[in-house]
Amino acid sequence: MAIPYVINIQKYSLHDGDGIRTTIFFKGCLLNCWWCHNPESQRYTPELLFNYERCKGCKECEKICPEHVIKVEENIAKTERENCILCETCLDYCINEAREIVGKQYPIEELLKEIDKDKMFYEESGGGVTLSGGEIMTQDIGYLVELLKKIKKRGYHITIDTCGYAPQKNYEALIDYVDTFLYDIKTMDNEVHKKYMGKGNELILSNLKYLSECGKNIYIRIPLIGGVNSSQESIKDIVKFLKENVQVKKINLLPYHKAGTNKYEKLDLSYLGEDFVTPSQEELEKYLDIFRKNGFSDVKIGG
Ligand code: SF4
Ligand code: SF4
Repeated sequence: MAIPYVINIQKYSLHDGDGIRTTIFFKGCLLNCWWCHNPESQRYTPELLFNYERCKGCKECEKICPEHVIKVEENIAKTERENCILCETCLDYCINEAREIVGKQYPIEELLKEIDKDKMFYEESGGGVTLSGGEIMTQDIGYLVELLKKIKKRGYHITIDTCGYAPQKNYEALIDYVDTFLYDIKTMDNEVHKKYMGKGNELILSNLKYLSECGKNIYIRIPLIGGVNSSQESIKDIVKFLKENVQVKKINLLPYHKAGTNKYEKLDLSYLGEDFVTPSQEELEKYLDIFRKNGFSDVKIGG
């Protein structure tokens, strides 16, 4: 069983399902959304995050790196990422905390210990545990089944936050343990989907239909990005698909924002979404109206 890497365990989360939740963000996703707010969640293995603003060029990391892959030039440490073995040695020597490695493996019992710490909040708020990512549904399925069985045995509510791009057999394997799916829909236009997310939407839509046919509790989340999918036409297409195929409990419209884009620099990646636009309040109101007129009463802006 392959133990997945975790980016973050977020306590007291109020936006990842019902009540107060512990949300576990796993590392790795098969999509490549241009606006991704967590680019450190896209690859399946650990990575170095380097904060350029904190680096003072002191050279302590350069001196200590056993692989000699750091060179300080013009007062900034530069790392040959392809030859870094992620040994973490340099982290302890950087007093400015410019260096960080993201991605930690949690054996199931260790993760359960973290989850159990917030038991009291789940009970009081009607919350529970949310597994998110990256894309949780693409992690080792043996690990996930065992984890979910153990969480369920404790009586905690389980939510899965998914982009839908994962084999249907993975959903089949977990379906009995999951209470709610937070399910992302971005666009019905397959060419737009391929361009901005790196893959087509067929698998995502068929998995969504499958979960609906199984009678699961489904909350739809729609990121709205000016320049990609924020238009009345795009919303009408999504509404049509949902009306015809999915029993939806709630819909959240999530307007695009630029938070998190500095993480691209920390990973030495380019951010492709510079031209994306946040939809205006007026546009958002129109979208809400389209949903409501089509019988979706529980729809709101925000998570
Ligand atoms: S130890 Fe930290 S502050 Fe010093 S050069 Fe390396 S990254 Fe920069
Ligand atoms: S993690 Fe290890 S190999 Fe990579 S830069 Fe730091 S000291 Fe060098």
